[in-house]
Amino acid sequence: MFVAKDLETPSATEPAASVRRTEACAAGVLADLIETPLAPGLYLVATPIGNLADITLRAISILSRADAVYCEDTRHSAKLLQHYAIAARTRPLHEHNEDREIERVLGEVEAGKRIAVISDAGTPLLSDPGFRLVRAAASRGIDIFSIPGPSAALAALTSSGVPTDSFFFAGFLPAKEGARRTRLAELARIPGSLVLFEAPHRLGEALQDMADVLGNRPAVIARELTKLHETLSRGPLLTLADAFTREPVKGEVVIVIGAGEPKTVTDDEVEARFRELLSDMSLKDAAKAVAGELDIPKARAYALGLKAKDQLS
Ligand code: SAM
Repeated sequence: MFVAKDLETPSATEPAASVRRTEACAAGVLADLIETPLAPGLYLVATPIGNLADITLRAISILSRADAVYCEDTRHSAKLLQHYAIAARTRPLHEHNEDREIERVLGEVEAGKRIAVISDAGTPLLSDPGFRLVRAAASRGIDIFSIPGPSAALAALTSSGVPTDSFFFAGFLPAKEGARRTRLAELARIPGSLVLFEAPHRLGEALQDMADVLGNRPAVIARELTKLHETLSRGPLLTLADAFTREPVKGEVVIVIGAGEPKTVTDDEVEARFRELLSDMSLKDAAKAVAGELDIPKARAYALGLKAKDQLS
């Protein structure tokens, strides 16, 4: 189930001449970008999600030319900026001060400044600050430029092997079980793949709820993407739930879930299976077995099991 990615290994030999040409060419493109005047506006710049090399030339050129770079955490982003020797004027923009900062940021742009926004990692606004700022900027007709690049959501989806033609990004689920299951019941109706962020310490319990509410769908846990311990774990939700409940993980994780198959199993079929099992199994054990066998949500199995049990007594 666990597949570790090969790591990049440094070449023992000198780079070929063609590689040297690529290096010079990329440096030339960056130099040209940096020399081109940057228009006033609000620049939403994607930054690496782990591997510092995952940054576009355009992102580097904008961060180095911006009049100010608003960061979710200025100390965190200092590492990235130092890595590329970008001497930007940084200011904080996070969920607690975003509303207060909107006037200042938009005032700067309206005064002709070039303002960049970055988050700690990946694409700003995706489960990160910036939406309220962009909404206000859009309503004032301010030029907004998205500088695309890494996002953990897309990196996980594309390497998952789960269908990519139609997917729904659901961000983080609520932390409390009741609210999480309610949200999952809403997501269960979406006819496509699901992509979710989750905190590592809640992964096991979240997967258990997903298996219960969504059914035993195929899923992938993408952990530590682009980093040294990058790992993809594939399996049905129940298997993953058991594995990650037994062995909690550290690091950052994205959950990708395949679309549910249209349910063809009827209530009569489910109840018939319960009648076979309930003679020598508890309702709880039978519900777990039936849910797994017929690939239906545990909650539905339990309700039909209860009905079958009443009919038997
Ligand atoms: N805006 C970011 C993006 O576009 O990737 C996501 C920010 S959100 C606050 C942080 C969550 O993204 C983490 O809890 C985790 O679910 C996911 N994440 C970020 N980096 C990751 C990585 N390298 N590997 C796996 N998941 C990651």
